[in-house]
Amino acid sequence: MTEPLLKVKGLKKYFPIHRGMLGKVSGQVKAVDDVSFYVNKGETLGIVGESGCGKSTTGRMLMRLLEPTEGSIEFDGKLLSDLSKEEMRKARREIQMVFQDPYASLNPRHSIGKILEEPLIVHGIGDARERKKKVIEFLEIVGLSSYHAKRYPHQFSGGQRQRIGIARALMTNPKLIIADEPVSALDVSIQAQVLNLMQDLQKELKLTYIFIAHDLGVVRHISDRVGVMYLGKMVELADSESLYSNPLHPYSKALLSAVPVPDPNFTREQILIKGDIPSPSNPPTGCTFHTRCPFKMEICTKVVPVLTEVEKGHSVACHLYNEQGQQ
Ligand code: SF4
Repeated sequence: MTEPLLKVKGLKKYFPIHRGMLGKVSGQVKAVDDVSFYVNKGETLGIVGESGCGKSTTGRMLMRLLEPTEGSIEFDGKLLSDLSKEEMRKARREIQMVFQDPYASLNPRHSIGKILEEPLIVHGIGDARERKKKVIEFLEIVGLSSYHAKRYPHQFSGGQRQRIGIARALMTNPKLIIADEPVSALDVSIQAQVLNLMQDLQKELKLTYIFIAHDLGVVRHISDRVGVMYLGKMVELADSESLYSNPLHPYSKALLSAVPVPDPNFTREQILIKGDIPSPSNPPTGCTFHTRCPFKMEICTKVVPVLTEVEKGHSVACHLYNEQGQQ
């Protein structure tokens, strides 16, 4: 049986809003508001939503780049908040991140060899000769060549730079990779190559992925399960197949109806959502999606819907579904 590598419970991140000369706290931005999920070893969990839905903040909390306001993160059987400094350093080796903009995340003044060697130096892995060997090995693993180690980031195309970003994330032999919109900045033709590379590496190196994206089309092929986030909350979580064939939450339906389908005989219910995403500093009451939802009912403005499993492995937070999952 597969076991979870990562368990997240009740995760929250509230940022204070400071106003006036004295910087008094006048409110909070609820960037992530009570999110729970798990990721099994070797699987890919896609997290999807519009910008500002909290998906990247969630990723940054998992990396401990941001401290959660509340909630727990359990990685490989241990609560991250309970780890000593030394244990946390080790955990950081095992959780790595691939960023959206590979150019911005690679130091332009350092050669690729130096960029790839850096995480090994930081974590005290190997001597100079072993580190050089590992740099070459990982350049080759991501489809580049040993001579690229001497070049600089500006000498590479966007796709090649993302390969370097992936190689850098792999240098410390991580178990979990958090990929935050890793292909969004790339041309469509290059996106598929990078996604294929990530899938091959996953099999080869037994990696677990959290794949963050704003586009359901992109995460479809790589994800085993997908979570849809809206305004800091997880509104639907299901295995990929049931989410794509039978999305339940009106927001997921709307996101999916915007994804082009290559089959001309396939028709999907078109759901258009109006307006912009509300401000997370002043989210709507009840269901935060009610200001844009075409199915809004009276209860929706008053009661927060709870993420509930309505079919095996398929959870949704919406008042349209009762406990039996009937609409
Ligand atoms: Fe729409 Fe109500 Fe469901 Fe929210 S709870 S998504 S407003 S039907």
